Amino acid sequence: MTTYKKMTRHSKIDDALSQLDAPQGGNGEVRYCDCAETQIDGERIPSPRFHDCQYCRARSTLVPTAVKITNEVAGSNNGGGHWTRVFADTMEELAKRCL
Ligand SMILES: [Zn+2]
Repeated sequence: MTTYKKMTRHSKIDDALSQLDAPQGGNGEVRYCDCAETQIDGERIPSPRFHDCQYCRARSTLVPTAVKITNEVAGSNNGGGHWTRVFADTMEELAKRCL
């Protein structure tokens, strides 16, 4: 009789991702900040491990420009997520200036 090990989603990739999202600094402390990205449904969540407040705030200032560019390129067409993809690509291009 052959026995099969139950497959789980756990993997090295999951471990790495959980480390990236771990709400702590290098010494294990939980840290909070005022960035919009760390507030969900009105509740403040701990900052992800490699969260960079300055980068996040600079990136947030790009949203109105990205919306304007996306509206010019995609109009109101979000069929199949078109507008969303154009917006994401535009944000990625604009955010390169923040690095
Ligand atoms: Zn922050």
